[in-house]
Amino acid sequence: MKQHWQAAKQVIRKLEEAGFEAVFVGGAVRDALLGRLGHDVDVATSALPEEVKTVFGKTVDIGIEHGTVLVLDAGEPIEVTTYRTDGEYVDHRRPDGVVFVRSLEEDLKRRDFTMNAIAMDADERIIDLYGGREDIANQIIRAVGNPSERFAEDALRMLRAVRFSAQLGFSIEAATLSAVKEHAHEIAFVARERIAAELEKIWVSPLPKTGIDSLIESGLADHLPGNIAAHQEKWTSFQTEKAAVGWAYLSFLNGEQLDIVQSYRLSNKIKDFIKYVLDAHKKLEAGWLPLDYFTYELKVLETAYDFAVWTGNTPSFRKEEISFKQDSLPIQAKQELSVNGHDFIEWHGGKGGPWLKEAVENVLQHVLNGEVQNNKEQIRDWFIHDFLNKR
Ligand code: ATP
Ligand code: MG
Repeated sequence: MKQHWQAAKQVIRKLEEAGFEAVFVGGAVRDALLGRLGHDVDVATSALPEEVKTVFGKTVDIGIEHGTVLVLDAGEPIEVTTYRTDGEYVDHRRPDGVVFVRSLEEDLKRRDFTMNAIAMDADERIIDLYGGREDIANQIIRAVGNPSERFAEDALRMLRAVRFSAQLGFSIEAATLSAVKEHAHEIAFVARERIAAELEKIWVSPLPKTGIDSLIESGLADHLPGNIAAHQEKWTSFQTEKAAVGWAYLSFLNGEQLDIVQSYRLSNKIKDFIKYVLDAHKKLEAGWLPLDYFTYELKVLETAYDFAVWTGNTPSFRKEEISFKQDSLPIQAKQELSVNGHDFIEWHGGKGGPWLKEAVENVLQHVLNGEVQNNKEQIRDWFIHDFLNKR
């Protein structure tokens, strides 16, 4: 990450030499002031996108309509965004059009929270026009300017406030919070995908329960799919590094209704994960069988286990045993069976049929249960004496 800062500094110097202004801005400055360096470094400049492109040799237009150019000259890719104000707001959504400006002050003014509106120059001098440093010291999330106006412009900001409360453990300042309460219903104007992206940041944050509490207290939960307010305490022990776990838990708390998470337009990969976890959790009540350890991925089983713990039904075995059980299965994949369909057909006298699928499934279960050993002779014995005989 040090390299990122060095590279960004190089980019800033180069813009300055060309006669422009340039500074570090946004989350990277906030996190640096918090003593955290894990962040992509953003640069803001008075140069127009076309001017940025003439200053550097290698650039990529990654969001030219918003004024963002990716500069590749400094070793690390650095996002350089022209100072701008947002154009007209329509329907409580961020505007499509932006207006480029030459003053940093104007650019900082359009930013959401004081902690996100701090700039730093290449000599590490801080430009803090809205008391962001003090708010960081006091762990406060405060809107820049009039909170009610800022949330009316862009309703997503309300959810960002909540998300930052979960990521940083900061509280939302009183006037900012009451403005969220006042505008909470306008979250309905924001695209579901953008809402989902913020919720995912809450799921994987250090303090997801704080995020849930803020969602409820602010009134936003009442305007989001998922009946979040109905299951507040169930989130107390929730913790994850994987966003899909949050979605799965939300569906689980909603009585496994997938249409709730469906409304967040999640990817098929996440939806599949949810289905597997919900299935595995259902089977956990009766106890997992070898076939379950074989069928489900470790992460799926561990997540189902966590659901039981989070809802006060800790299983009678330890979580570490899951991977142990998986590792000690006789086989890890179907291909490891020492027979295949052809063997069965041959033993059956050369003809296939509907029985074949059943035989393969049966032998898999028997091998996993340790009832039949995974070698051809044993399986043939079982097939002829048990399987065919009992039909
Ligand atoms: P992180 O990247 O850790 O999620 P961040 O603060 O960098 O946090 P980004 O979404 O990357 O957040 O945005 C970068 C900066 O752009 C923010 O710090 C803020 O100054 C500004 N910003 C982002 N979204 C908005 C918004 N909806 N309204 C106003 N300003 C915003
Ligand atoms: Mg960022």
